[in-house]
Amino acid sequence: MRLFDTRTSSLIPVVEKRVKIYVCGITPYDFSHLGHARSAVIFDTLRRYLEFGGHEVVFVQNYTDVDDKIINRALKEGKTAKEVAERFIAEFEKDMKALNFKRPTYTPRVTENIPEIISFIEKLLEKGYAYEVNGDVYFHVPSFEKYGELSKQSLEELNQHRIEPDPRKKDVKDFALWKSAKEEDFTAKAFFDSPWGLGRPGWHIECSVMSSKFLGIPFEIHGGGRDLIFPHHENERAQTYALFNVEPVKIWMHNDFLTISGEKMSKSLGNIVRVRDVIAKYGGEVVRYFLLSAHYRSVLNYSETEIEKARKAYNYLRNSLLNVDMEIAYLKTFGDRKGYTFNVKGFENDFVSAMEDDLNTPKAIATLHRYANAVNRDLHELSLEALELFLQKMLRFLNVLGIFEGWRRIRPLEKEEVDLLLEREIARKSEDFEKADKIREKFREKHFVLLDTKWGTRWRYE
Ligand SMILES: [Zn+2]
Repeated sequence: MRLFDTRTSSLIPVVEKRVKIYVCGITPYDFSHLGHARSAVIFDTLRRYLEFGGHEVVFVQNYTDVDDKIINRALKEGKTAKEVAERFIAEFEKDMKALNFKRPTYTPRVTENIPEIISFIEKLLEKGYAYEVNGDVYFHVPSFEKYGELSKQSLEELNQHRIEPDPRKKDVKDFALWKSAKEEDFTAKAFFDSPWGLGRPGWHIECSVMSSKFLGIPFEIHGGGRDLIFPHHENERAQTYALFNVEPVKIWMHNDFLTISGEKMSKSLGNIVRVRDVIAKYGGEVVRYFLLSAHYRSVLNYSETEIEKARKAYNYLRNSLLNVDMEIAYLKTFGDRKGYTFNVKGFENDFVSAMEDDLNTPKAIATLHRYANAVNRDLHELSLEALELFLQKMLRFLNVLGIFEGWRRIRPLEKEEVDLLLEREIARKSEDFEKADKIREKFREKHFVLLDTKWGTRWRYE
C-alpha cells in the first residue's frame, strides 16, 4: 500500500512486514469531539487494513495526561490533574469502544514516562541541542539545521510565529522541553522532580520519548490531525532527529479537519460536537461509517443531512447482507439451484486497490455498494456457492472498515422447523390465519422473524 507523506509530499510504499505506528492521542481534559473520533477511526482502519494484508502492526496511541488545559480544569473543579485526566481517559475509551476502535498495542501516558523524558532531555543538553535557564529547559532550534522541513516553512516565516519575544530564550523559535513548576502546577499536583528542579515536561518532548521508547527509531508511520504538523510534529521530529541522528519517521500521515455545517469546530463558535452525543443518536457503527465516508486527506463536513446520508447508506449495506444471508440459509435448507457464479476476484481487486491507494476509504465503500447492489439484483439467480463467497468477502471487507464485526450468520432450518414452515404454508393457503400466526409465534420463540416473499418464506433473527 502507498501512503501520502507530509514531509516529502509524495506517496511512499509500505513494504515492511512489521509496521510500527505512532498516533498522537488526546489531552484528556474534556469529552472527546467528533474530530478526535475521525483521527482515531482513520488510523484504526489503517491498522486493520495492514493486518488484513498480512502485516504485523505495533500501534501506539498516547495520552497527554499533563497539560495546561488539564491543570486549568483541575483548579476549577478543586481536583488534581491526575483525577481530571483519569476521568476523561475513561470517557474517551468508552467512546472508542462504541466506535469499534481496536485497543492499541500500547497506550502510554506522560506521567508514567517521566524518567525517560528526563533522560531524553539530558542527552539533548549533552549534545548541545538544548539549554537550561532557571529551571526551564529549551530546545535551541537554530542548532538543528533541518528544522522547518516537515511543515515546509522558511526561517523567516518561522520567526514570525512567536509574537512576544521571551527574554529567557536564545531564539524566538526555541521551545520548552521542561517547564519549572508554577503555583497552579503545585495546586493541581502536576509536577515532578528533575535535575532542573520541580517541573513538568513540555508537550512535544513527550511524543518523542514515547514513540522512541515503544517503537524504536526509525519507525514507519506517524499519524495525527493536520493541526499537529506545526509546531507539535515539527518539534517532535527535531528532538528525535537531533538525538538519534537519523530521519525518525518514514511516513508522516495527517488527516484533514472535520467541519460542522461548513465551519471549523471551535470552543469560541460553540459548535463542538461530542462523539457520544452523535453515537447516542445514530449508533457507533453509523458514526464510524460516516467518518470513513470521506478520504482522510479531505475535509469532512458534519451536518444532520450528511450523517443521515451515511445512515441510509449503512442501512443499505445491512439490508443487503441480510438478504444474502437469508437466501443462503434458504438454499442450505431447501437445496441449491443452478445459479450464476460470482466474480469474487474482481470484488477483492476493486476493494484492495482502493485501500492500497492512500487508504481511499470512500472508493472502497463505493466498491462495496456496487457489488452489494449487483448481488442483490441477482439474488435469486446466483448459486449458493456464489452467494456464500460474496457474503464472506463482504463481511471480511466490512470488518476491515471496522463495521458489522458482530454479524450473526442466519442458520438453516432443522427438519422439524421445515415441517412447521410447510404446515404454515398450507394453513395460509387454506386461509387458516390463526394457525399460521401460531406457527409464526413458534419461530419467534426461537428469535426468528418470518418474511413472506414472492420466492417463498425467508427467516432472519429479530
Ligand atoms: Zn504527539
